[in-house]
Amino acid sequence: MNRRYHTVMALRLFNTYSRKIEEFEPSNTAERPIKVYTCGPTVYSRAHIGNFRAYIFEDLLQRHLELRGYKVDRVMNITDVDDKTIRGAREVKVPLARFTEQFKQAFFQDLDTLRIKRADEFPCATDSRFITRMIEMIGTLIARGLAYQADDQSVYFRINKFPDYGELAHFDLTQLQSTGRVKHDEYEKEHIGDFALWKAWNEEDGDVKWDSPWGSGRPGWHIECSAMSTALLGDQIDVHCGGVDNIFPHHEAEIAQSEGVTGKKFVRYWLHCAHLLVDGQKMAKSLGNFYTVPDVLVRGYTGRELRYALLRVHYRVPLNFTWEGMNEARESLARIDQWLARLREVARKANAQRSRPNVQRPTTAFEYALDDDLNISAAFGYLFESIRETNRVFDRNEMDPASATAWLDWWKQINTVLDLEAEAEIVIPPEVTQLAKQREDVRREKNWKRSDQLREQILELGWEVRDTKQGPKLARRTSSK
Ligand code: AMP
Ligand code: ZN
Repeated sequence: MNRRYHTVMALRLFNTYSRKIEEFEPSNTAERPIKVYTCGPTVYSRAHIGNFRAYIFEDLLQRHLELRGYKVDRVMNITDVDDKTIRGAREVKVPLARFTEQFKQAFFQDLDTLRIKRADEFPCATDSRFITRMIEMIGTLIARGLAYQADDQSVYFRINKFPDYGELAHFDLTQLQSTGRVKHDEYEKEHIGDFALWKAWNEEDGDVKWDSPWGSGRPGWHIECSAMSTALLGDQIDVHCGGVDNIFPHHEAEIAQSEGVTGKKFVRYWLHCAHLLVDGQKMAKSLGNFYTVPDVLVRGYTGRELRYALLRVHYRVPLNFTWEGMNEARESLARIDQWLARLREVARKANAQRSRPNVQRPTTAFEYALDDDLNISAAFGYLFESIRETNRVFDRNEMDPASATAWLDWWKQINTVLDLEAEAEIVIPPEVTQLAKQREDVRREKNWKRSDQLREQILELGWEVRDTKQGPKLARRTSSK
């Protein structure tokens, strides 16, 4: 099994643009890192685990590139202004920034639970730096005849003027025109497919508005990503990712806007992951068939188990989420844990460092499987095959310390990609325990001010006190501050 991976040399990725597996050729890696842009969450509610399937696939990509020696510069945007966030804030009658803040914090907490490596930057669309850039880009597009202001005062991209529009999605625009199904409320637009770059303010937007040369309003979702990606990573990006639902219109629009402004090829490799499904249907907020990370934790599963469950299937294959799958994840991780414990026990034996010739050593099959368009299923296949084979050696009492150490070194290396080691036992530093005790004392005296100060001090040390029914408990700090 997996023998063919011994001969595959270069990293190859499926590019949605060409619909082909292509050899990954980084541009100028000696001087600069690989630039990766990944579309992040729209913070109008807590992200569901379908969204996290996409983020785990992007995490896998980044970690594998790093395993292969590349430096990665990754940006993940946060959409904190759009129709859904505005509607959500209005419904609960709180300012937009306050409404989205809670979901931003929850998002970072969930990233940590799932051990997803943080991107280098998480730009927010409402940041004035990026709003300015969006307005500049729209101005350029209008000046080039690629955009126009319509009677409703909104600004639209003129897709007929961008001949490559539809290339990413392999979409034939003439089909759109021939249907003749132009809705009444879209008469302002020249073409049904023209999309909004700038949405003119209306009453429902409340105080969510920015000034622009076209009147007050707010950006469209697509221009947010074009502005943030080019502002932070430059005109050309190596890899741009998202879920398959992002291909059209979002990524198609990003290409049109970015290339319309820069005149350069925007993205070299487009990667999209298949959906997480529930009973064969896409997990989605709108369908109500979703689970959040806390929904899974509350059933007694750990973040590590969920990470494994979302990671284990090739990113281009739809993955059905089931509780059975979560149990399988638990069993697979237990096998890894037991195997590591066995290896460590033998590796600790200082004597007989010489290895036995008949004990199999790790090969490069894991990395080569990932070189093959991130074939994680094959990579896990090799891991579990290795576990089976080395367990046989253990059972025959033939594992020697040098071989066990070699396998542990290998695990350490592949675990930089998997990040599936069991949580180390949590040791609370004595000064934190001391502060928590002091806090309990002052609370008994009802000295709330001092109690709050102590809580702050504990937070600064990276811990937090959670007041539970069983009394105060210390936990690692989860907020992103
Ligand atoms: P959104 O917050 O809707 O903009 O989505 C954030 C990311 O999650 C995008 O990359 C989506 O393509 C992705 N996504 C949404 N639903 C799913 C799903 N069920 N499975 C996998 N990825 C998804
Ligand atoms: Zn985006």
